[in-house]
Amino acid sequence: WNSETVAVVTGSNRGIGFEIVKQIAGHGVTVILASRNPSAGIEAAKSLQELGLSVVFRQLDVLDTSSIQHFAEWIKQNYGGIDILVNNAGVNFNLGSENSAEFAHLVVNTNYYGTKNVIEVMIPLMRPSPLGARIVNVSSRLGRVNGRRNRLGDVALREQLSDIGTLSEEIIDRTLSTFLRQVEDGSWASSGWPQVFTDYALSKLGVNCYTRLMAKVLSDRPEGEKIYVNCFCPGWVKTAMTGWAGNITPEEAADTGVWLSLLSDGMPTGKFFAERREINF
Ligand code: NDP
Repeated sequence: WNSETVAVVTGSNRGIGFEIVKQIAGHGVTVILASRNPSAGIEAAKSLQELGLSVVFRQLDVLDTSSIQHFAEWIKQNYGGIDILVNNAGVNFNLGSENSAEFAHLVVNTNYYGTKNVIEVMIPLMRPSPLGARIVNVSSRLGRVNGRRNRLGDVALREQLSDIGTLSEEIIDRTLSTFLRQVEDGSWASSGWPQVFTDYALSKLGVNCYTRLMAKVLSDRPEGEKIYVNCFCPGWVKTAMTGWAGNITPEEAADTGVWLSLLSDGMPTGKFFAERREINF
């Protein structure tokens, strides 16, 4: 990796994303600090430029398809493509929202559809390289399909989502749209969804399933044109999202994401990590 290497980190004006930008740029890589709010993004990028890091701000709202398109066009014109994409932008309102329909839509649309829409538009821009391009999705243990706690009550659905042989975008999208419909009609609470941080857990379940699916879809690309797709849980982190109540710092939380972004030997794909170790989906 060198200054010709280009990485993009979404939602990186603060929190874990900001730290991922800082640490990747610390390896000599040029990093695009993507933020939906221009003034916050410019300020954040400036603080890293002052450290001598090659960091460039660009506006990107993952909820806005025209913003995603403009971002991709700008990347193409200015860099030709990218090598590393970290999908970090995310929201969580469960600290006080109780799965209201408005919040549930916002959480699923940002965390799952936002990530998916950015990936779809950016894949054609992922550059061929000997090390392979990388997509790293910031996810959560709360979104494990087969986690010991907080998992889906519907065993058949769990099996469908676990079977990579038959997993499809349609199955993932249908799961999320069923949940959102039930939030609207009030039946979600008795329908076997995770009971804790439900909308957030399901949005990250979508990210986890989509990570495995995209890794499979992209797996037959020839040597030199590989794109590796993984996700990780940063842990419980002291950021705005947790009201600064986590047990680790954003610096520590960024580590696994940076490691997956820059790893040069034995690059995995379609896996879920925490503290640099593989964990189950
Ligand atoms: P923060 O709230 O500090 O940061 C979230 C970032 O996402 C902000 O920069 C925010 O921008 C941005 N964002 C939100 N919506 C959009 C959007 N529509 N378009 C672009 N950017 C957007 O939280 P964290 O740093 O803690 O979270 C980062 C990631 O880590 C998230 O995906 C989160 O789910 C995940 N995570 C966090 C955990 C934790 O304990 N903190 C645990 C597990 C996973 P703005 O400043 O404009 O709001």
